[in-house]
Amino acid sequence: MDFSISDEQRLILDSVDRFVAQHLPPEEVRRRDRAHEPPDFLIPLMGEQGMLGLPFEERYGGSGHDWITVALVQERLGYYAATAASLFSTTVCFGGMSLMTYGSVAQREEYMPLLIKGRLRFALALTEPGAGSDAGALTTRGSPVDGGWRVNGRKTWISAANVADFLVAACRTVPGSKGNDGVSMLMIPRGTSGIHMTQLEKVGNNCLTSWDIAFDDVFVPRSALLGEDGRGFRHLMQTLHFSRAGQAANVIGQCQAVVDMAVRHAKERVQFGQPIGRFQVIQHRLADMQTRVDLARLMLYRLAWLIATGQRCRKEAAQAKLVASETLQYVVDHGMQILASAGYSLDSDMQRIWRDSRLYTFGEGTSEIQRNLIAREIGL
Ligand SMILES: Cc1cc2nc3c(=O)[nH]c(=O)nc-3n(C[C@H](O)[C@H](O)[C@H](O)COP(=O)(O)OP(=O)(O)OC[C@H]3O[C@@H](n4cnc5c(N)ncnc54)[C@H](O)[C@@H]3O)c2cc1C
Repeated sequence: MDFSISDEQRLILDSVDRFVAQHLPPEEVRRRDRAHEPPDFLIPLMGEQGMLGLPFEERYGGSGHDWITVALVQERLGYYAATAASLFSTTVCFGGMSLMTYGSVAQREEYMPLLIKGRLRFALALTEPGAGSDAGALTTRGSPVDGGWRVNGRKTWISAANVADFLVAACRTVPGSKGNDGVSMLMIPRGTSGIHMTQLEKVGNNCLTSWDIAFDDVFVPRSALLGEDGRGFRHLMQTLHFSRAGQAANVIGQCQAVVDMAVRHAKERVQFGQPIGRFQVIQHRLADMQTRVDLARLMLYRLAWLIATGQRCRKEAAQAKLVASETLQYVVDHGMQILASAGYSLDSDMQRIWRDSRLYTFGEGTSEIQRNLIAREIGL
């Protein structure tokens, strides 16, 4: 097994370092978090830099890199700014991989070049007030009409819906169907008449806006169907591991940022005449934090390797997402303890990651659901 980073991957990561230093330095991350101002301008810049085309074919404008390189880039983005990694993930892991996996040839030809240039944004509209973990309980309907569907229903907690070109909405299009059957993914242009959005307030991830969306008799043409009619859930299952890998990479980047911040503080903060990092209790805490981060990272790299080599990875994707998100909560809780009042200040990056971290054990599927999935995969 080879854990080394190639010269090319190193060059790509250096370019990510320079990209973030130029466009989203730490003071700007802090300012935007306080102002609740998402750095949407990053997407076209990521496109120009070639980041959004990393895993895609050259014929669409991509560069055909493997998923290990994609995971390394996401981890590095997450290290600097979760918001940058999640913009990347929504575009590449959700939008791009959905089009490539179950989009039609015409949809790929039309949309992939735009997506890779950073000129096309998607939002996944799956969750509903009555359908969270139990996504199959969704009630948003696409009633078949001449030339398409009339969509009625409500979605909630949809990230960055206000700036998406398309809401990729899971709608029940097969009358009388139940559960995971009969659902289709419809690419609905955000500006379509009958769509009403209300912003939701929340405790963290201030640069990732969240929206409640009402679909009121929205006409959607047949050309908006992504994948096959009535097979939307199967399609989503086909691509979930890309998003889970994306979230795990983003979160592991944040984990490492927390450990590095805590180590710096332990060396600099003097109490009782010595840096607090000389106290064995602090050293052991930091040693445990780094060890858990390395464990989570190994699970991510195994997942990335499985994806890169085209192998089945349902269990490993759930494990990587589960371990990464629970590790972040562990390390950032200890990070707050090591920084104490310095971490509690609104000027501190530690408190931002502490607030943001709460999302990841339920966003994109809760830890309980990941455990259910892992249990099923091991035969229970
Ligand atoms: C900031 C944010 C951004 C989001 N972005 C999006 C987005 O872009 N698009 C989108 O579609 N959704 C999005 N979501 C929704 C997110 O995916 C859901 O919150 C998540 O799937 C969990 O659903 P729920 O919150 O309704 O929790 P529930 O499903 O109500 O779960 C509540 C509790 O019950 C547990 N539970 C439920 N069922 C079981 C079971 N079978 N076994 C064991 N335990 C169970 C859960 O694990 C959890 O602990 C976002 C949410 C947030 C907060």
